[in-house]
Amino acid sequence: MYKIYNLLAVFLLTASSLFSQPCNITPRPKHIEYGTGFYYLPQKTNYSTNLKGQSGDWLRKILRQDKIQFRETFGKAPIRFRCTQNDLEAESYSLRIDASGIRIEAPSEKGLFYAWQSFLQLLPPPENGQYRLQFCHIQDAPRFSYRGMHLDVSRNFFDKNFIKKQLDVMAQYKLNRFHWHLTDGSGWRIEIPTYPELTHQSAFRPYPNWAAWYQGGRSFCSPEHPQAQGGYYSQEDINEIVQYATDRCIEIIAEIEMPGHSEAALSVYPHLACPGETTEKPNYCSGKEETFVFLENVLSHCAKLFPSSYIHIGGDEVDKTPWSKCPYCIQRMKEQNIKDPDHLQEYFINRMEGVLKKLGKKAIVWDEAIVGKLATETLVMCWRNASMGVQAVSQGQKVIMTPSEFCYLNSYQNAPPLEPLAMGGYIPLRKAYSFDPCMDMISNADKKKVLGLQACLWTEYIDTDSHAEYMLYPRLVALAECGWTDPERKSWPDFYRRALSIAESLKLSGYHSFDLRQEVEERSSADATRGNIAYNKPVHYKNKYHSKYPAAGDSSLTDGLKGGWHYGDLRWQGFLDTDIDLHIDLGVNTSISSIDTEFMQQKTQYVWLPKEVRFLLSEDGKEFRLLQSYSTNISANEERVIFNSYRWEGQATGRYIKLQALNRGIPGGWLFIDEIVVR
Ligand SMILES: [Zn+2]
Repeated sequence: MYKIYNLLAVFLLTASSLFSQPCNITPRPKHIEYGTGFYYLPQKTNYSTNLKGQSGDWLRKILRQDKIQFRETFGKAPIRFRCTQNDLEAESYSLRIDASGIRIEAPSEKGLFYAWQSFLQLLPPPENGQYRLQFCHIQDAPRFSYRGMHLDVSRNFFDKNFIKKQLDVMAQYKLNRFHWHLTDGSGWRIEIPTYPELTHQSAFRPYPNWAAWYQGGRSFCSPEHPQAQGGYYSQEDINEIVQYATDRCIEIIAEIEMPGHSEAALSVYPHLACPGETTEKPNYCSGKEETFVFLENVLSHCAKLFPSSYIHIGGDEVDKTPWSKCPYCIQRMKEQNIKDPDHLQEYFINRMEGVLKKLGKKAIVWDEAIVGKLATETLVMCWRNASMGVQAVSQGQKVIMTPSEFCYLNSYQNAPPLEPLAMGGYIPLRKAYSFDPCMDMISNADKKKVLGLQACLWTEYIDTDSHAEYMLYPRLVALAECGWTDPERKSWPDFYRRALSIAESLKLSGYHSFDLRQEVEERSSADATRGNIAYNKPVHYKNKYHSKYPAAGDSSLTDGLKGGWHYGDLRWQGFLDTDIDLHIDLGVNTSISSIDTEFMQQKTQYVWLPKEVRFLLSEDGKEFRLLQSYSTNISANEERVIFNSYRWEGQATGRYIKLQALNRGIPGGWLFIDEIVVR
């Protein structure tokens, strides 16, 4: 007995001293312990399993795709898969490599699948026809049950091969939900046999991409049109993708947008909009029964195609003004005793929840839908910001967190002037990795209502496969780790090390990943205090900055902190529909030799450079003399993100420095100004 204890002690000691060795499994597992010794696995080998029938076939199919050539045997084999229960929800697993071989155990097929993904990541390159595997024991389980990726195929269409290719990466990094944004204003992408016109008339556009369509008249065309661009998924395509995903333990959540974001359907069936509707963003009419008949038929078809118990029914960004003017909607509000259009949306969503219930399904909605009461089983997908999650949870709903500032992968991942045009925002890898879906939840009970997270890819400015992959990777992998790994097991330096090689291996496998080595530093890391005479000096505003973008308030422009790559970082100060007119009081007459500031332009977000910038100087604060004025010669139509410097140089003395910047005068246009540096 003594001997055994002694041996065990030696083993444990070795194990703990090896514990700090890097682990190359992503997402990082819950628990991994290394032992001393190696198991040599031949490239051609046998496996055994207790899975039978369909489950056995599934395992055979999964194993067929990998680097090892397998043969199933009965009895002892180098690799053994054992399913211990038939718990459909469980995703945990245990993976042990020791002198007796590789033992994989899990309470479910999902667990076996994830164990296999971890195992594949452990495989070194083979030497002499075999793999050298260090002894180890991994026990792993995900932090969240919902770990999703979303793809918008309405703005621009992506074909089924592209989808399957991305499902492969999702599976590899243990993501388990694919949210398929199948309909929106700019294209209907799912074949509905009862309504063939939908895909015949609004799945194609006579424009090369979304941007050209959006700016050029927003019309659709038939697939036969000579300039037709776009596409849709036939029932066969969808069956094929659903099977492909199911094999990889990924559930597909189909989204049919309603009542807003429905221009594509309404262009085919204008009678489903409110009568006389001329706004740019029409909705389905909530007063007409035909609307509900149509949507019920569409959802019934989806319920048959998609095995998931959830269907996403949108609910976001509804412009409700048409409803308040429509006689049908007004009549509906009267009959149902509905007090305003917000509650008409509640009525709309509640009716669709009822339809789904009848079909044996449950709803997922975007967070705007919490203006009304929702069915308890409805999940809320929180995108506007994390506080929407807090609100939804306090209303008793379960949530999926996808706040745009961390999870919208259509945002820039690197210095915007160096990048292909994107929607806006700035989410470098490190920021994506810092995301915690529970961060704003106060109590543990609230945290339990957070089912997980989702990365979203909206495709307004993404019209090629390679660009979509460029935006997804490696940031998707960072979010995959946020969804799987417990916060105390996360480590940015360790993840960054793995991300470099993940990006590299994705490239080798034919994915167009962003090259992390090209990443440049955050702009705001520059020091603006050194030699800055204006540092901490008071600023007086004639026209106030906007309450939405105050940055640090009155002290912001002289606090020594430069703005970053995104105006929303609380360092850039924003002015809406107004000029900037302010002065800095240096306290005493001071000799100065330069004044610097910067503005930015980001047309996609209605942010423009000023038409003109003036620097003025005064000794008494009353009489100002012009030092210099600059007209901006960059066009307001320039779509690239531009940071433009304005600098005066010379010799002058004064106490008050005035800066005036003239707004372009485009309604809804912003000016964003950075730190003012005086030397
Ligand atoms: Zn109406």
